[in-house]
Amino acid sequence: MRLLALLCLLAVAALSAADDKVVIWKLDDVKAGEKKRLADGFKRVAEWAKAEKTVVTMGIICDSLTQPNAEDVAWIKANAVENGGVIEFWNHGWDHRSWTEAGKQLWEFRGPDAATQAKHLKNACDTFKQVTGLTFHAFGAGFNQADDATIAAMDSVPEMTIWMYPPKNETKRKVLGRTLNIEVATGKVSYAKFAQDYAAKKPASMMLLQGHCGMWNDDSFNDFVKIAALLKQDGWTTLTASQYVEKAGKK
Ligand SMILES: [Zn+2]
Repeated sequence: MRLLALLCLLAVAALSAADDKVVIWKLDDVKAGEKKRLADGFKRVAEWAKAEKTVVTMGIICDSLTQPNAEDVAWIKANAVENGGVIEFWNHGWDHRSWTEAGKQLWEFRGPDAATQAKHLKNACDTFKQVTGLTFHAFGAGFNQADDATIAAMDSVPEMTIWMYPPKNETKRKVLGRTLNIEVATGKVSYAKFAQDYAAKKPASMMLLQGHCGMWNDDSFNDFVKIAALLKQDGWTTLTASQYVEKAGKK
């Protein structure tokens, strides 16, 4: 009887360990406006996700939606998980700016005051909703640069409960941190480097993996596909950020 109890315990432990092996694809920099059209790389990954019966997430730079392109907006709507598609779209800010002022480096979400940052967050949420009818639940800052003012600013957009690669002081939202990288430089994927890091670090819990698929050439796309296949073979489940948070909340 004791052996049976032990076996049950082991089975439960194995099950919850397997549960934690979740990969979330964080694909940045969607633009969908007349001036900045949707890059083909996003469509390519979406087609791959459909064929693989899997999901990805994509971050939208929302000032591109002030003059939306009808075809690109139709693509967003058709591919959104809310509409039965394979993509969770998330708030990647308003203008994705970085600049220097009086010799100081500033970013959209690192440096400006909380009110300015809140305006950017809210404009992004509102414009996205207006143009697509959808609601953002997750946020990731441009260049992953954010500060304490961003933490305060996030309170103005309570529908966003998930923060991808947040600053260390964030405690109010569900935080999804960085473990491994698939890109060796922005827009360049390396299967060889990822496989090496993966074998060395042996991650066993949620991985949020970032890529810039709008910039990927054939080699980068093919290496991404190989990385996804490696993880699938190794027992990783792929979810969107919201799906993961919902699942983790139920445990
Ligand atoms: Zn970005």
